[in-house]
Amino acid sequence: MTYLTLEAAAAALAAGETTSRALTEEALERFETAHTALNLATLIEREAALAAADASDARRAAGTIIGPLDGIPYTLKDIFATEGVVTTAASNILKPWTPPYSATTVKRLDASGAVRLGKVNTDEFTMGSSTETSAFGVTRNPWDHDRVAGGSSGGSAAAAAVGAGYFSIGTDTGGSIRQPAAYCNVTGIKPTYGRVSRWGEIAMASSLDQTGPLARTARDCALVLQVIAGHDAHEATSLPDAVPTYLPGQATLAGLRVGVPQEYFGEGLHPEVRARVDAAIELFRSQGAVISEVTLPSTPYALAVYYIIAPAEVSSNMARYDGIRYGASIERDEPGGAHDLFETYAKTRGAYIGEEVQRRIMLGTHVLSSGYHDAYYKKALAVQQAVKQEFVQAFQDVDVLLTPTTAGLPFGVGEKANDPLAMYLEDVLTVAVNVAGLPGMSVPCGFVDGLPVGMQLIGPHLGEAKLLEVAAAYQARTEHHLSFPNI
Ligand code: GLN
Repeated sequence: MTYLTLEAAAAALAAGETTSRALTEEALERFETAHTALNLATLIEREAALAAADASDARRAAGTIIGPLDGIPYTLKDIFATEGVVTTAASNILKPWTPPYSATTVKRLDASGAVRLGKVNTDEFTMGSSTETSAFGVTRNPWDHDRVAGGSSGGSAAAAAVGAGYFSIGTDTGGSIRQPAAYCNVTGIKPTYGRVSRWGEIAMASSLDQTGPLARTARDCALVLQVIAGHDAHEATSLPDAVPTYLPGQATLAGLRVGVPQEYFGEGLHPEVRARVDAAIELFRSQGAVISEVTLPSTPYALAVYYIIAPAEVSSNMARYDGIRYGASIERDEPGGAHDLFETYAKTRGAYIGEEVQRRIMLGTHVLSSGYHDAYYKKALAVQQAVKQEFVQAFQDVDVLLTPTTAGLPFGVGEKANDPLAMYLEDVLTVAVNVAGLPGMSVPCGFVDGLPVGMQLIGPHLGEAKLLEVAAAYQARTEHHLSFPNI
C-alpha cells in the first residue's frame, strides 16, 4: 500500500477494495514509524483520524461520498489554524495556543472528507530552508538521515515521501514547497498568489505566502488543489477567478513551448543536478516540445528583493506576538518576570522566539525605518516590478519555463545552520516565482548518488492547470517519482 498514489488509493476505495479505516491505520503506522526515524510530526492525531476514517466509511456505505479526497489520509503543515487543536508554527511562543477557528484550507479539506493524520514540522513561522529552526528540532531527509529534508515544509515533504498520508499541505513564501519537494522526491505546487486562501494560515510575509499540496504525482496534486483553490470572501487578496478543472487528461508534449532561462543554469549549479535537468529537457525535446533559450536579466536581484520585502512583512506580522495577546508570555509564566510593558515584550520575545525569526524582525524593521525605507524597501518594490515584467514578456513566447529547483543536493544537518547567508542562497532559484506571484512546481527528475533531484516548472499567472498537465505528461513518461525511500 505504501506504493499507492492518492489517485490509486481513491480508486481502491471507490472499488470497495479497501476502507478509509484500513488506509488510515496503515498511514498512521508509517507516520509514527517515520516520525521516530525522521522527527517529522509536531502532533499525531490518531484518535481523531480513526474517527474521521470511520465517518468516511459510513458515508461510503450510505452512498453519500463527497468526492475523491473522501477517506484519504493526509498531513498538514503546522502553520494552519485548526479549531480546538493546538497550532504552533513550530515556535515556542505558540506552543500553548489552541485556535478557536479553522483556516479556510482546513475547512475545505474537512468538507472534502479527507482524514487529517496530524501536523508536520516546519521552520519556525516558516522562516528557513531546512526545518532546522523549528522549536521541535530538525526533520531529517528520508533518503539520507544525516541530511535535511529541506524547508520550510520539510515535514510535509518527508511525510509525503514516506507515505505518511497520500498528500501533505505546505506553504511557500520563497520556495518552501518546491525546495523540500525536490529534496525528498515528491511533487509539489505553489499556486499563483491568491489562488488558495491565506485565511487562518499563520502569516510569514503576506504578499508572498501561498498554500499548496505536496504528493506523489502531479495528478495527485491536481486532486488536492481542486479542493483548496478558490475565492474566499474572508480574505482580501484571494482571487475571484473561477477554478478550472485541474486533473489533466492524456496530454501530448508535441508543440509545447518550453523556455529555458539561462540565468538559472549559472555558476554554483551542481554539475550532476544540471545533468538530470538537462536530461529532462532532452526528454521534452524528444517528445516534440519546442525548447528555446530565454533570458530573465533581473533574476540575480530577485533574492535581494525577497530578503527585503519578506523581512519587512515579517516584522509587521510578528508584532502580534507580544506576550499579551497570543501564546506564551513571560508575564504569565514567571509572575514578576517583567516589570513593565517593554520588558514584557522584550523578555517574552527573547525567551520564546528563535534566533532566525528575531533576525528577520530586525532586518525588516531596519529596511522599513525612516532613512532606509526609500533606499531599501521602495527600491525593492521597484525591482519587483521589473522581475514581474520579464516573466510576462517571457510568457508571450513560451508556455512554461523549466529550471532546476535547487542548485545543489540535500545538504547535511548543521551544515548551513550557522551561516544565514548560505541558507538564504538556498532560495536563489525559487524566490523569483514568489516575487512575481506566479505558480511554480517541483517535479522529481532523477537521482545523484541516491539523493533526489527536482526540476522546476514555472507558469504564467493562473497557469496551474498547464503546469499540472505538463508535469503529468512528464511523469507518464518517467519513473523517478515512483522511487521510495526505505525507512
Ligand atoms: N527559505 C525561505 C526563507 O527562509 C522561504 C521560506 C518559505 O518559503 N516559507 O524565507
